[in-house]
Amino acid sequence: MRFKQDFFEQLPEFYSQVWPAGLPNPRWLCWSPEAASLIGLQQPDDALLKGLAGNEEIPGASYYAQVYSGHQFGGYSPRLGDGRSIILGEALGPNGAWDVALKGAGPTPYSRHGDGRAVLRSAVREFLVSEALFHLGIPTTRALAVIGSELPVWRETLESGAITVRLARSHIRFGHFEYFCYSERGAKDKLLQLLNFTLAQHYPHLSQDMAGYRAWFFEVVRDTARMIAHWQAVGFAHGVMNTDNMSILGDSFDFGPFAFLDTFKEDFICNHSDPEGRYAFGQQPGVALWNLQRLAQALTPVLASDDLLAALNTYQDELVQAYLALMRAKLGWGADGSDEQDQRDLTLIGEFTQLLEANRLDYTQSFRRFAALDPNDPKPALRDDMINLQGFDAWYQSYRDRVGQPADLAQWQRQRAGTNPKYILRNYLAQEAIAAAEQGDNQPLQQLFELLKKPFDEQPDKEDYAKRPPDWGQGLIMSCSS
Ligand code: AMP
Ligand code: MG
Repeated sequence: MRFKQDFFEQLPEFYSQVWPAGLPNPRWLCWSPEAASLIGLQQPDDALLKGLAGNEEIPGASYYAQVYSGHQFGGYSPRLGDGRSIILGEALGPNGAWDVALKGAGPTPYSRHGDGRAVLRSAVREFLVSEALFHLGIPTTRALAVIGSELPVWRETLESGAITVRLARSHIRFGHFEYFCYSERGAKDKLLQLLNFTLAQHYPHLSQDMAGYRAWFFEVVRDTARMIAHWQAVGFAHGVMNTDNMSILGDSFDFGPFAFLDTFKEDFICNHSDPEGRYAFGQQPGVALWNLQRLAQALTPVLASDDLLAALNTYQDELVQAYLALMRAKLGWGADGSDEQDQRDLTLIGEFTQLLEANRLDYTQSFRRFAALDPNDPKPALRDDMINLQGFDAWYQSYRDRVGQPADLAQWQRQRAGTNPKYILRNYLAQEAIAAAEQGDNQPLQQLFELLKKPFDEQPDKEDYAKRPPDWGQGLIMSCSS
């Protein structure tokens, strides 16, 4: 790996230097060749294993944990920071630089009462979902590898310690800005420093002045809205949308008790620690706006309130337009650009998801039906899935009116197959692969990983992976402990 150290060199007050605690008997559990190519790596070799396990120093790396704060479940925590993640610097790749972080590398000055560790279960889940989202075409941080070990780590039971090697275009979160706004440590200077760094690194087309800052915040709002639109369209619940888990670049970030929906349920909760459903699936669009409002508040020392409000006011439209584009592509019709048509389309889409909910249908499977649907067919296979046939027939009539008859049906169906994944990372699939890996069998994990790289393809030997979960795996609610 070749590094540059821009964050480390330019923002000395934004981190603490810290050395990883190391892992006993490290072994490769997962390796993503696609992520590796981003930073010019070829093979997982022994020297790299020792380096990423934190057992030997990696030449050119700086070891640091960033400081930030954040709103967690609505309440402000004035100091969080990387409690179990150590960043090595920005690794240079053929198309840009990627932060490399060792998540689970041991305690840092921000660990509070935590042990600084991650367990195999959570490390593998983060690896799989990062790469799965990427292959679904959703903005996300990436995962290079998971390293397992014989380190005993206590959670609800005894588990083993592991490290996810995360690649991120940036680790700067909404919470970074909040920390310096509320910290009284020369807030405005620090905020400007952080803002200028962010612009220089990631928004080279913007000037470092008021006009540039204003344009930047509009982009943050837009990119956050687009990320959320993707989550809602694919049926992904993040589970812990605290402002410290919101990437400033609008990448899906910091995965814990996430879930892809199985049976569609608007108010589905995937996080065991969220009984009130603050982060339920259907709440995500509103929560992201709330988080953007917290970010805007933190930016008031450097940006005019009118500008911040003007940007926030674009959120809903950005979200709706991005969501409409994705859902139209899933269902198979185009846009004509009028507000009235947008409203009618939203209604038609909403009625369909209501049908899924009322008929207790699987979100992914139901949308995948469109890959083989002929809008000319009055009784498509999708109809057989329904209990409420009358309800479906009424909706389907409106749908057919909207779609019309595709000029080239085969091509239309291929497009639907390319926008409605067949395979998603269902929690129970992850669980099964993790259980095997915990017993030393990596085969199921490897197979699952390969499957998730081609979520839109028919993979005839892997039909089972597209099925609904067995009874034990329905609507799994994950614990936050990781
Ligand atoms: P998360 O919910 O994973 O985003 O974590 C929230 C905060 O808790 C972050 O500051 C983490 O670094 C910290 N944290 C989570 N787990 C641990 C742990 N095992 N040890 C130390 N800090 C942790
Ligand atoms: Mg976090």
